[in-house]
Amino acid sequence: MSSKHTSSQGASLSRREALRLMASGAGSLLVTLQSGSVNASPATTAEVASQDWDYLQRRLTGTLVPRGHETYQTTRQAMIWNARKISRQPEAIVRVANEADVRETVLYARSRGLKVAVRGGGHNWSAPSLRDGGILLDLSGLNKLEVNVDRRMAAVQPGAKSGELAAKLSPLGLAFPVGHCPRVPLSGYLLGGGIGWNSGAWGPACMSVKGIELVTAKGESIYADAQQNPDYFWAARGAGPGFFGIVTRYHLGLYPLPKAIRTSTAIYALKDLERVATWLPELARSLRPEVELICMLVTPPNPLRATERVFVVNATAFADTEDEARTWLQPLEDGPATFAIHKELYVDTPMSALLATLDNAFPTGFRYAADVFWTNAAPIDFLARVGDAKIAAPSPRSILLIAIPPVPPPDAPKPDVALSMIGGAYVGAFGIWENADDDEKNIAWAREITARMEPVTIGYYVGESDLTVSANRARRCFAPANWEKLQRLKKKYDPEEVFYSFLLAA
Ligand SMILES: Cc1cc2nc3c(=O)[nH]c(=O)nc-3n(C[C@H](O)[C@H](O)[C@H](O)COP(=O)(O)OP(=O)(O)OC[C@H]3O[C@@H](n4cnc5c(N)ncnc54)[C@H](O)[C@@H]3O)c2cc1C
Repeated sequence: MSSKHTSSQGASLSRREALRLMASGAGSLLVTLQSGSVNASPATTAEVASQDWDYLQRRLTGTLVPRGHETYQTTRQAMIWNARKISRQPEAIVRVANEADVRETVLYARSRGLKVAVRGGGHNWSAPSLRDGGILLDLSGLNKLEVNVDRRMAAVQPGAKSGELAAKLSPLGLAFPVGHCPRVPLSGYLLGGGIGWNSGAWGPACMSVKGIELVTAKGESIYADAQQNPDYFWAARGAGPGFFGIVTRYHLGLYPLPKAIRTSTAIYALKDLERVATWLPELARSLRPEVELICMLVTPPNPLRATERVFVVNATAFADTEDEARTWLQPLEDGPATFAIHKELYVDTPMSALLATLDNAFPTGFRYAADVFWTNAAPIDFLARVGDAKIAAPSPRSILLIAIPPVPPPDAPKPDVALSMIGGAYVGAFGIWENADDDEKNIAWAREITARMEPVTIGYYVGESDLTVSANRARRCFAPANWEKLQRLKKKYDPEEVFYSFLLAA
């Protein structure tokens, strides 16, 4: 069955005719097609002739790399931050230079029945921006950051990174709940919810998004906030790869920079893990929302000369005075810190230092297999469930990370946004290794932890979960009503499925 492009005037022509006309430079035809509805099945490589890519390239300020081009494979691989490259192959990669390029690409894709996959900075562990077929639209070139100190607002383009925003804000006495690692791009981070620094007090980062500029599936630029286009605004706060538009700018509310950010760390031998894990809920309850509690099972830093893995308990107080920070961190010192093998208390850790520490833990250039779960089980219970796998990671760099957010008061209002899956503890299995030969056993380690955690997992974090693990994984990143609403909105605002949605299990 040959598919048809239908213009708003009702005239129709076959895809072959349309391509031939466009290749001959009939630009006005494209305008007609763009303004009309399109009923086309996805085009194949053979159908999208190379001269057609030339047509799109002429309309772009940025660059287009079609499949088969000599730089295609290196460009494709550079799209993914993880050194473990995924083999999925888009038909073309468009690296945009401005917002007009975004619109042009959407209109072009729509007119050809091609799908568009969006890339902010390529950090997502499951690489949903790399698809087989379609156009990969790379937004990393849009990376401007503007701050309005008086209004305490920032306007950020998607390619800007967490560390860049923090570095711009700190000297101005301002802050934002940026991602824990400096290279994390704001693009997908904000869209997935954003569990960043001091989110106990400031909330998930998406809750500080006040408005967005976006390009719709029709190729139109619009603005969305609580009043205008509220469905887009609802979805942009937590839908992650399920969003049905392309965000080109986020408007963010900012916070006064806490003047005394201090961190206390206690490191325990594994023989004491049970005792420490039993104490963790009590510790979490005694901490204020402005104190972030992160624990990690890791291979210890060299100076400790420990031979086995250790359990690190780390609390950061986002306080305004030294006294305040010391009081807030006191519960860490009062607990089993007395038998820690190493302690560092009340260390001055400005935002730049916090970000640098996590950058070292999650270095660039390594191979990763990651998965992140929410659980309401007590740490002692889920650690017992994970069993030996928590210790016997094939790579010494791998990390089992536990973050315990502050318990919200029972009467705390639940915000009506797409982000809807948060539990008592965030547990992340991060396999980190160097050689491709070790892929199988390291991926198996992360999957083993996923499987062992499953009975106590209430859901997954869409920003960091491995969406390829099972067919219902994306669904389990949302409360049922939010998932249903997201599906409904996707159908309403992207009926022709111009945009890819969640990546599903292979
Ligand atoms: C080292 C490291 C540290 C991390 N730390 C944290 C952390 O502290 N907290 C946290 O919450 N997460 C963290 N993450 C996860 C991170 O937030 C997500 O992977 C996020 O998707 C990264 O953004 P990105 O722009 O690189 O996403 P990409 O991989 O580029 O995009 C992922 C998907 O998001 C969608 N998307 C991205 N940008 C847009 C846009 N502008 N418009 C429409 N759709 C878009 C697309 O569907 C795309 O396929 C971390 C990841 C890494 C690798």
